[in-house]
Amino acid sequence: MSGHTKNSKVISNKTSCIFCKIVRGEIPADKIYEDENCLSFLDITPINPGHTLLIPKKHYENLYDLPDETLAKLAPVIKKIAIAVKKGTHADGINIGMNNESAAGQIVTHAHFHIMPRFADDGYHLWHGKSYSKGESQKTADKIKKNL
Ligand code: 5GP
Ligand code: ZN
Repeated sequence: MSGHTKNSKVISNKTSCIFCKIVRGEIPADKIYEDENCLSFLDITPINPGHTLLIPKKHYENLYDLPDETLAKLAPVIKKIAIAVKKGTHADGINIGMNNESAAGQIVTHAHFHIMPRFADDGYHLWHGKSYSKGESQKTADKIKKNL
């Protein structure tokens, strides 16, 4: 993975990576949870107050690079934090998100999960669903399955 993004920012290097700096304690963050593998802290520009990030302590750029064993260790922490965010913010619901590559909105190229509290009246909407033409969904499913 190159770490190049369309908006020409390259933040993949461990030395300059903002999230690695948070792991090393070089810049402050409102920490939520930490263990030997991961660190969780509040997003500095939240979708709603309590929007939390979970990162592996080691620098990986995105989901594709993240070793399966690290992902397996992070998964139960996502759940633990989601429940704590929901209770702590009295959220009506929680979105879990991960942006991978700039086309998908990734700005910080240190793999991270977003744990986002949602409220019934917060005004955000998810995507508008497109529709498939005849036979397109089966062809699409086949193309994806070939790559498993
Ligand atoms: P991405 O778009 O890469 O998935 O999301 C990166 C997130 O990191 C953004 O929501 C942004 O607000 C957050 N972020 C960027 N820089 C910092 C920082 O220095 N501290 C904290 N706590 N969050 C940051
Ligand atoms: Zn990093």
